[in-house]
Amino acid sequence: MQLDVIWDAMDDGDAMTNDVPGAPDSPRGGVVGKDERLRLTQTLQTTLNVQRLLELFAQECSKVVPFDGLDFVHEADDTRLHIGTAARHSCSYRLSLETKGLGEVTFSRATPFTDEETMGLDFLASHLLYPLRNAQLYQQALLVAAKDSLTRAYNRATLEQSLHRDAGLAKRHGTPFSVIMLDLDHFKRVNDRHGHITGDCVLKEAARLFQECMRESDTLFRFGGEEFTILLSNSDREGARQLAERIRGSMAARTIHCDGQELRLTVSAGVAQWSDDESPDRVLLRSDQALYAAKEQGRNRVALAP
Ligand code: GH3
Ligand code: MG
Ligand code: MG
Repeated sequence: MQLDVIWDAMDDGDAMTNDVPGAPDSPRGGVVGKDERLRLTQTLQTTLNVQRLLELFAQECSKVVPFDGLDFVHEADDTRLHIGTAARHSCSYRLSLETKGLGEVTFSRATPFTDEETMGLDFLASHLLYPLRNAQLYQQALLVAAKDSLTRAYNRATLEQSLHRDAGLAKRHGTPFSVIMLDLDHFKRVNDRHGHITGDCVLKEAARLFQECMRESDTLFRFGGEEFTILLSNSDREGARQLAERIRGSMAARTIHCDGQELRLTVSAGVAQWSDDESPDRVLLRSDQALYAAKEQGRNRVALAP
């Protein structure tokens, strides 16, 4: 176990990194009493949600060492969290367990931290290591379970949940949401001519192309086989049609490189906007019917559900 402390006196630009023997049993508690330590340990065991865990950690730490802001950054997980307001003086801890980086937590406030206080923060931060590692592992496991392992798009089970959630939000806030159903054209030929391994590579490349065309608020799901679904939060049918058309055009213009081979493919799409008197499954069905119409009309096209 390792806990690096980066003591950053921001007023004079001084920064240094120290190794701290941050074992939870360390006697170097500074301002941290036995009761505070016990309460912190118990509190951090109550959640496996990283954000909630850090909020609880901040709450408990502030009872021992007052501070204005707490920042947490973990680049590998793309996690960033700000609590309170960042201030002039800061004290940072780079957290790692068994050489695995867990992120960096920074306390800051308007007045400098005393030696006793930094010792206390150091001690408190060491108690975050195992709960944080467990929460991150749990979060990663949830993500793996929610995604399709081949394309890294979300899977069908997640689509069902997301559809219900988006429909609920749209109903509550009176905002639109739309669905695009995509299906690669004549994909069976790719497998027949080039084999399944190349077919798998094409599916991955297609998912990548879809993601490139999408905005952050759009979510890609693998519906099954060579069919994909995109949910567009807060978008009407016209917005969804534009995205579907962008995807169709990009696919038609792209040469896909897989296993040293160059492939040209097209994609068909069906677009539907959710109307608030229908079930989430119904909007999916309507986008699928529109997709079927696009296929009937000759493929490599976008069709709109009425
Ligand atoms: P259409 O234009 O009508 O959509 O024709 P298509 O050939 O794309 O459709 P069809 O439903 O006849 O074939 C889909 C093919 O997708 C058949 C199946 O073997 C292939 N497929 C489904 N899942 C996978 C997969 O995970 N990997 C690979 N390589 N192929 C898959
Ligand atoms: Mg299909
Ligand atoms: Mg197909």
